Amino acid sequence: MIKSIIKNTILKTYAKMENHPLIQPLLDYSIKYGYNLYCKSKLKAIEFPSEVWIENTNHCNADCVMCPRESMTRKCGFMPLGLYEKLIREISRYNVKRVHLHNFGEPLLDKELPDRIKIAKNHGIKHTFLVTNGSLLFPDVSASLIKAGLDEFKISFYGTDSKTYNETMRGLDFEKTLQNIRIFFKIRRELNSSTPKITIRYLPQKSNKEKTGDFFKIFRPMINKHIGDKLEIYRLHNYGGGKDYYDLGRALMACGYLWNIMVILYDGKVVKCCMDYDGTHAVGDVNKSSIREIWNSDELNKVREDFKRLNYKEYATCIKCDEIRFSKKRHNKRVSGIGSAPAFGIL
Ligand code: SF4
Repeated sequence: MIKSIIKNTILKTYAKMENHPLIQPLLDYSIKYGYNLYCKSKLKAIEFPSEVWIENTNHCNADCVMCPRESMTRKCGFMPLGLYEKLIREISRYNVKRVHLHNFGEPLLDKELPDRIKIAKNHGIKHTFLVTNGSLLFPDVSASLIKAGLDEFKISFYGTDSKTYNETMRGLDFEKTLQNIRIFFKIRRELNSSTPKITIRYLPQKSNKEKTGDFFKIFRPMINKHIGDKLEIYRLHNYGGGKDYYDLGRALMACGYLWNIMVILYDGKVVKCCMDYDGTHAVGDVNKSSIREIWNSDELNKVREDFKRLNYKEYATCIKCDEIRFSKKRHNKRVSGIGSAPAFGIL
């Protein structure tokens, strides 16, 4: 909470002063030697990640404009169920707050997804979560996700009419996805279930930012705030260099990802964070080692030490990542009371 207040204050100040030749270096200095030191003091080594992302697949049925999918070179596939079960068994022995059942791909393409959710819930995983584009959230899929025990999911819905949606989420269909979402809410009501709670996320861009108000008009009547449903405004990011929406200044902050979150690709490789969508820097392989061994390995500890020193030069995605920089153009507005955009990767 305090951290987010401080960060938002810095962002606002930065936005006001971004072109001032004297003030901006001072701001950089205060972020690096004030805010960053405060954030670093909060980094605590824990024996096991508090959140684990398991990429069930990196296949996708969309071609969204903001996604660097066209530059992904790794093969596409699905995580074998046996490997998934092994991971869940290990995770269930620790106090893990949330398991993501997705990473870089559309999770609903995975026919075994309801089984994966059941396996996680049967092993006592507290919170299962995923992000989807919603295009495959057909009525039978909605019912199976609800019955399997999915706790929460997010739908990226980046348009408010056929034109803006179809131009942004290329390959998908505005009306069909909207209908899926309407029917999901109906099925959840009919099944008298309070899970999964849902967040619907909008991403204002050049083509659709004028329509942000329409987004709320469409979805506000559908959600159930008592259950915990939310609407959220998201922001663009550089995706570890896969895109270049923001100018990159100097790295000013230690990235806190590796103190909390582990991301496992469908083939078992472990990467530093979800920004490494192409798996360029694997820091372990869960086919060969346990999550705990990788989490506490010398290799990952070295990366943590480098991050603390703001030494990112060995890490290609970090060199191009805007999450550790307060770049000039990245001042996204938060929508208070409706659900704020996650600032993943930022301390
Ligand atoms: S700096 Fe960016 S790319 Fe590197 S680990 Fe953090 S969020 Fe990922």
